[in-house]
Amino acid sequence: MLDKEVAFYVDKELERQNEGIELIASENYPSISVREAQGSIFTCKYAEGYPAHRYYGGCENIDAVELLAIDRAKKLFHVPYANVQPHSGSQANFAAYHALLKGRGRAKILSLTLNDGGHLTHGSPVSFSSDLYEAVFYPLGEDGRLDYDLIAKRMEEEEPDLLLSGYSAYPYEISFSKLREIVDAYNSSHERKAFFMVDMAHIAGIVAAGLCENPCLYADVVTSTTHKTLRGPRGGLILSRDENLAKSLNSAVFPYSQGGPLEHVIAAKAIAFGEDLHLDFISYMKRVLSNTKACRDALEELGANVSDTENHLFLLNVFASYSLTGREAQTKLEEIGITTNKNMIHGDTKKPKDASGLRIGFAAVTSRGCTKDDARSIGKLIHSYLKDEMSKEEALKEVQEIVSRWEKIEKLQFSTISM
Ligand code: PLP
Repeated sequence: MLDKEVAFYVDKELERQNEGIELIASENYPSISVREAQGSIFTCKYAEGYPAHRYYGGCENIDAVELLAIDRAKKLFHVPYANVQPHSGSQANFAAYHALLKGRGRAKILSLTLNDGGHLTHGSPVSFSSDLYEAVFYPLGEDGRLDYDLIAKRMEEEEPDLLLSGYSAYPYEISFSKLREIVDAYNSSHERKAFFMVDMAHIAGIVAAGLCENPCLYADVVTSTTHKTLRGPRGGLILSRDENLAKSLNSAVFPYSQGGPLEHVIAAKAIAFGEDLHLDFISYMKRVLSNTKACRDALEELGANVSDTENHLFLLNVFASYSLTGREAQTKLEEIGITTNKNMIHGDTKKPKDASGLRIGFAAVTSRGCTKDDARSIGKLIHSYLKDEMSKEEALKEVQEIVSRWEKIEKLQFSTISM
């Protein structure tokens, strides 16, 4: 890199990531191949449109790579339709809402609030989603889990145009088949039908590995990011089991909400999907789940107040456990190279900028080789440090010891179906 100023920060960031324990549940470390594709020659090419229907010449290689990405996404999630062009998860949601709800006036979306684990684009007052649509919500049950009867009741009360599932901070399994039943029952007695959409951004890797129900078999449209548990480049994805929606979905992405696709990112998505289709990805995902559980169990054994976990993340109530706000706990852990993010806990009375909890996930560190023993040690370390039972020097030394056993990020390479 000739630009010394930017190169300086790239090097510093690599060092920060290599020397730290990355527990942000939405992050991951893609392979060198994925990162190489993002810096490849495809970044130079304009390719507005779709394969074989472009507004620019010279797209034969771009077409082939985009078709590869589409084909692999379809195989991975068992669907007949995939759009790999959304620049991000938020863009995918924007396009999917438009494709499903256009012509319905100010359509109503029934979703989970941000405070209970939903995403900004699921109807938060600061997002386009509540500007363009009327957002109404279903609460979680008292135990912090989805209450399917309550969701059915909210459907009847609100008569929404769309039921949305899939979350940013929900540690439990979701029954997409039950949600489909609820929407079908509702639709059988209402003239204005409701769509069922799932944003599987967080759990897409678990779905791809076949370790939970596949929402693509039940929802009308499924959106995702490609950079979380899927371990690909930063980007979005739209899938559907209904080929009749293909035209609306495609035109909602381009030309309605995006211009030229990021073909270098699409090439990286193709590579990531190739890795996700390999058998090794299933064992990686199983390790993510067991590491998450191991860390969570270690914290509970020590007396911390933690949610259970049935996926790649759990919530640690740091206020109940250590009388710290989420913000304070996040800052304190950052001092010793453990990165997390503050998060609201179900029924939280604190403001989102403070929050009572931390969201902790194991997708990223497991990509570097974190073991179950490491995960338990991390749980103990978090507990001791937040309880002030350990000095900063002792904690830093232990972090260094743990990460010294892991692969360096610049060396990560994963098996692929295309060898
Ligand atoms: N949907 C969910 C459930 C998410 O958790 C996120 C990001 O955290 C997004 C969508 C948005 O993805 P992006 O940041 O790529 O816009």
